Amino acid sequence: KSRARRARKETSTTTLNDVAGIESAKRDISEIIDFLKSPEKYRKLGAEMPKGVLLVGPPGTGKTLLARAIAGEAEVPFFSISASEFIEMFVGVGAARVRDMFQTARKEAPALIFIDELDAVGRSRGAGLGGGHDEREQTLNQILTEMDGFEAHENILVLAATNRPDVLDSALLRPGRFDRKVTLDRPHREAREAILNVHVRKVPLAADVNLADVAARTTGFSGADLKNLVNEAALTAARDNLAEVNSLCFEIARDRLVLGEERDAQLTK
Ligand code: ATP
Repeated sequence: KSRARRARKETSTTTLNDVAGIESAKRDISEIIDFLKSPEKYRKLGAEMPKGVLLVGPPGTGKTLLARAIAGEAEVPFFSISASEFIEMFVGVGAARVRDMFQTARKEAPALIFIDELDAVGRSRGAGLGGGHDEREQTLNQILTEMDGFEAHENILVLAATNRPDVLDSALLRPGRFDRKVTLDRPHREAREAILNVHVRKVPLAADVNLADVAARTTGFSGADLKNLVNEAALTAARDNLAEVNSLCFEIARDRLVLGEERDAQLTK
């Protein structure tokens, strides 16, 4: 039995309010949300929306989060699959999963399809020794076939995430496929503060916590790291039976995360 799961379908409750610090990416996708909400408006004007959008950014910058927020805002079903799962599967399984996912999504259109880690199957072809018949290549070909096989008026949008746009097969980037790119950058100081604000919403903070300070002291942290930081700080407070999370908890949490990473780096040396 294959280890890989079928495409997951969910009703996303994520909204753009849950996404912070990547304002230009949010602006880029507002048109896409509007289209999924009211495709008729665009069609009447003869405007064709993109079929595929590539979300490009380093790990933990919110690519998956943003995809969920688009589905949540537009109130359309969200189908997701991670391309890395196909790598070690029996030949044909990945392609079949891709075909199934597109078929189901089309029945429920308007819908959003999300392919995480596209580079896992989308690396440029012909580099390996598989003679064009390996699993990765078949899966990639199936994605290309599916994208060519639906019309813009079917109201399916395919989002794909990658942190390696440079290695992608150029066939993926042709018009009618992933011909739009939205870039998510590592958060700068203000962005980090905005992201922290999202993640402390349900956390009782002591009066001595200054999130601008925390943001200033977390250079290099991604959105995912910051989420982690808030959680570590809350765990620290719980360990000490505090009723509120104070600034010392944030200090301890930050040191733990930073030192933990340094230790991991040492171990892998
Ligand atoms: P990967 O490339 O590792 O899959 P990703 O870019 O898809 O990462 P997410 O999985 O979306 O990143 O991020 C993980 C979690 O980190 C999110 O669920 C969210 O809680 C938090 N996060 C990341 N970026 C942001 C952001 N810009 N605003 C708020 N929260 C964020």
